[in-house]
Amino acid sequence: MLSGRYIALARSHTDRVDSLSTGQDPGGASHGGSDASGLDTALLDQMPEAVVVCSLDAVCVHVNPSLERHLGRPRQELLGRRLWELHPEWAERSFQERFLQVARTGESDEFECHTAPQDRWFVKRLFRVHERVVLFSRDISAEKKQEATLRALYDEMRRAQRHAAFLAQASEVLASSLEHDLILQRMAHLAVPILGDACSVDLPMPDGQVRRAAVAFSKPEMVAPAQDFQARYPIRLEDAAGIGKVLRTGVTEFIPDFPAMLAAAQGGSSAYRRAVEGLGISAYIIVPLISRGRVLGALTLLNSESRRRYTEADVRLAEDLARRAATSLDNGRLYTEAQEAVRARDSFLSVASHELNTPLTSLMLNIQALRRDMDPRASNGPASPEALSTKVVAVQRQVSRLSSLVRELLDVSRITAGRLRLEREDLDLAALTREVVPRFTEDLARAGCALHLDAEGAATGHWDRLRLEQVLQNLLSNAIKYGRGRPIEVRVGADASRAWLSVKDQGMGIPPEGRARLFQRFERLASERHYGGLGLGLWIVKQIVDAMEGRILVESVPGQGSTFTVELPRHPA
Ligand code: ADP
Repeated sequence: MLSGRYIALARSHTDRVDSLSTGQDPGGASHGGSDASGLDTALLDQMPEAVVVCSLDAVCVHVNPSLERHLGRPRQELLGRRLWELHPEWAERSFQERFLQVARTGESDEFECHTAPQDRWFVKRLFRVHERVVLFSRDISAEKKQEATLRALYDEMRRAQRHAAFLAQASEVLASSLEHDLILQRMAHLAVPILGDACSVDLPMPDGQVRRAAVAFSKPEMVAPAQDFQARYPIRLEDAAGIGKVLRTGVTEFIPDFPAMLAAAQGGSSAYRRAVEGLGISAYIIVPLISRGRVLGALTLLNSESRRRYTEADVRLAEDLARRAATSLDNGRLYTEAQEAVRARDSFLSVASHELNTPLTSLMLNIQALRRDMDPRASNGPASPEALSTKVVAVQRQVSRLSSLVRELLDVSRITAGRLRLEREDLDLAALTREVVPRFTEDLARAGCALHLDAEGAATGHWDRLRLEQVLQNLLSNAIKYGRGRPIEVRVGADASRAWLSVKDQGMGIPPEGRARLFQRFERLASERHYGGLGLGLWIVKQIVDAMEGRILVESVPGQGSTFTVELPRHPA
């Protein structure tokens, strides 16, 4: 039984060898055997690669099952036809030239090709064996995919390495100083040209303007057009896009294809569009510098026409850089603030000792004089009750000045330790003001200030009486101190939800640059030689107003006076 089958297979094998060797009946070929040129077709049929055997003029004489599967056609339809007719890929001129070259010279050829519709890769080998050319075609798509994945991984790894090296360098630069403009400038120089053709850092200012703190360009010819553009179109926080928007929202803006975005964008004057186009920007990334929830600035990286494109990986790197820069900016700021605080505290100590010493010295002198005046053994006898009474009033004034200074100092330590407790009660701010103002009659008269009080209607609310008195006393004594010889107006009013109190003087006023410091501890703007004070009053006022969930506003024109307005919610939230 076994041997019978073996013979049958051997026979069919011989038949096909004959047909291949003559090349006359290719359509009748079947599996297994060897052709006239000595090719073992049985072996070819077992191969996983697609194989086609052709005559030297490209007529198919044998195809293996793998090729049948690949072309989706049975061999009867393929044999006897020119190779070029069987597949569009083989119809290509370059393939035909390769085939004919191998047929002519006998030198084998090997090459890769890609079929676009199915996105597959093949490696093809052409051999000549005697009078035959054999084409092997192996699908290498899986290897190619693997290779592409590996290449992408490798590229990613290299990029990560480059980024890590860059960030390490940047961290060094950022830690090199605490002076922020200097470190930002160094960072911009480091970023160009590694991360772009230009890099800038812009900071929002307290007055709502935007300041360019650092900028670097890869080409000197970029400097003038950029400066020109900046002067004509300054960055504004309310801008709908770009640096202003990033500073306002704290959200990264990534434009990988700037010309396309510009073409699609609506609006904007044609002059502006021309100016933007003139900058030759091809792509940009703007990332916010955020630290402790605050947008401290924006870092811009841009590529000009000649440069490579930006990817998401560049955005991540820029964000990483911005994070480090923000931390370093913040550290610098904290350091400056700490230095400022130490300076203010030192100057406070000298001011405080001077302030305490002045009434104390007068007090001592007055008490000595009183003792002398009351001494019955004095050469011209004890002084008159009127003379004694004048000195007692002076003593009283000095004691009250000392006690108010000590109270301020105590308040500072109490408030700083978080122990400002409010004792709320139902009050009328207008009535309270009418009650407090007369206590200043003497001070007003001494300073030559007339006071106009407008506190007719009731302004009721739920507040702390003593603390409100303190607020009013501080504002009034400042108005008298800094508005000497000029009239003062005090107004009180209320609507359904709020009450307000304003104290207006016509004195020296407050320069705009001093306003931010006004409510800080130990800060004094006026010269300490001419005006006494610890620089604590307004700080205390603000702490009290904050605790009552209100706010304090200042309007001032230097040389013309100031108005301090306190607004309070009538009932705590
Ligand atoms: P001080 O005890 O020194 O007056 P304040 O905290 O009350 O301290 O005020 C801080 C600084 O604010 C003052 O040194 C002064 O320069 C300025 N200032 C306060 N009130 C006025 C005002 N009404 N007019 C002008 N400057 C003022």
